[in-house]
Formats: sequence, C-alpha cells, structure tokens
Amino acid sequence: MADLKKSHHFSDFLKPSQVIYELKSREKVLAIEELLDVLAKEKLIKNKKLILTRLIDREQLESTAIGESVALPHARVNTGGEIAIAVGRSEKGIDFDSIDKKKVHLIILVVWNPTLPGLFNHLFAGLARFLRKPEYRKRLFGAPNKTELFKILSEIELTMPHEDRIISRASLLAKLQEIELRKKKASKEQLKELRKHAELIREELDEALLTRFDKLMERYGFAVAEVRDGACQGCNMRIATQMSSAIEDSNDIYICENCGKYLVAARKKKK
Ligand SMILES: [Zn+2]
Repeated sequence: MADLKKSHHFSDFLKPSQVIYELKSREKVLAIEELLDVLAKEKLIKNKKLILTRLIDREQLESTAIGESVALPHARVNTGGEIAIAVGRSEKGIDFDSIDKKKVHLIILVVWNPTLPGLFNHLFAGLARFLRKPEYRKRLFGAPNKTELFKILSEIELTMPHEDRIISRASLLAKLQEIELRKKKASKEQLKELRKHAELIREELDEALLTRFDKLMERYGFAVAEVRDGACQGCNMRIATQMSSAIEDSNDIYICENCGKYLVAARKKKK
C-alpha cells in the first residue's frame, strides 16, 4: 500500500495489473463493472456491488466525463484500504454522456476511503493537470501496448499535501467557505472555475455536514470559524482547552457551543 504522505506519482497507486489496455465493454456501466472486476481480482475492493451502485448513482447525478475523451468515475466508499484505482482504455470509445459529446477513450476509476477527505481532491487536481495537455492525451490514447500505456500513466505527478496528514474535513469546510465568499465578487469566468472547485470539495464531504454548512452560510454569511488563542473567532468565546487541542489535529468535526460554527484550527504560520 502506498504511503499517502509520500506519494508523488500516480504509479504509487497503480500497478500494471490495474490497467486494461483495451476494454471489452462498449457501454458505460459495463465498462465500469469491468474495471471493478480488476480491483476485486487484485483484492483492492471487497464490496463490488455497493461500489458499483455508488458509481452509477454518481454518474446519474452528472456524468464524470470531464471532456476531451476522459472520464473519472469515482465513489467515496470504505474499501478496507485507502484508495483503489483502475484505468481502462478504449480504442473505439464509450458513450459516457460527456458534456462535449465526445466518446470516452480513457476511464480512470477511483474509489477512496471516506476517512481520507481531501485525497480525491488532490488526486483529481494532479490528474487534470496532465490530462489537460493535448500532447499528453495524444500519447495516452495512442499507446501501442499495455506496457507503454502504463509507462505514460506513470509520468503523472501528484501534489499531495505536504503536511503530515491528509487535510481534515474541517479545513475542507474552511476552503469551501473561502470559495463561496469569493464567488460573490467573481467574474463570470472565475465563477465557472470556483464552482468546479467547490463541487470537488463537496464530493468529499457528507451530506449532513454540507446541509448544515449551507444553512449557516445563508443565515450568517459564514459557517467556519478559526480557533485562535483558545477562542472561537466567530463569537470570541473561549473554548475548552481539551477541545481546543483536539481540534488541532483531528479529522473530527467540532462545533462552537456558543455560536454553532464549525471550528477549524488557525492556520499555522509558514516556518
Ligand atoms: Zn463561536
């Protein structure tokens, strides 16, 4: 299993056995299932049926075809491990209800553990950076065999968080708040980017957390408050020392007992 803190290459998450050079399936759901079979065979997932349901639910919400013949079906499900990825290529292409109507020639399927929020976000950003390059896509789609395809995929570099841990849910909420606030003064073009970013973050967070977040944003204009010198910056009330130190490095969600905002540790000054 890859060490997430030190993973900087896509190949840290991918073995050649997780790559299908030519998908047999010509249809979306069947192709997704074909990739899940690979993960099951590699013992990277146990609950194939559940994962398939989640992936299809997600596709029905909105196609994960990101344009330019690439699709990134994904689900946040506990697989027992941290992350499971399978890649499939299709010469003839698969109809994926893509926004640009193009058929999909490359599917990167990602299943990741809900206990690792932020992970998909970073992975997605890294993948998108490479897949956006026309030159890179051309080489990927044109790979003459599986070995070459794997080699080209291995070139993808990821920028995983440098902190000691994967970003916490509270900091994701804080980031989401920053984006929601920026949306208010954004130009049309910026708005599109911000929406996309917000969507990625939302995918990492639970429905209940987000519902409450949206309500707070609507009512107060902000939903997340930093804890600075032991006090909630949303209402200036002191927070129990124990709770304050727990917030420091925890993935748990804490709520200010006084003002109800989500609490996040104050950002550490860069050394
Ligand atoms: Zn407060």
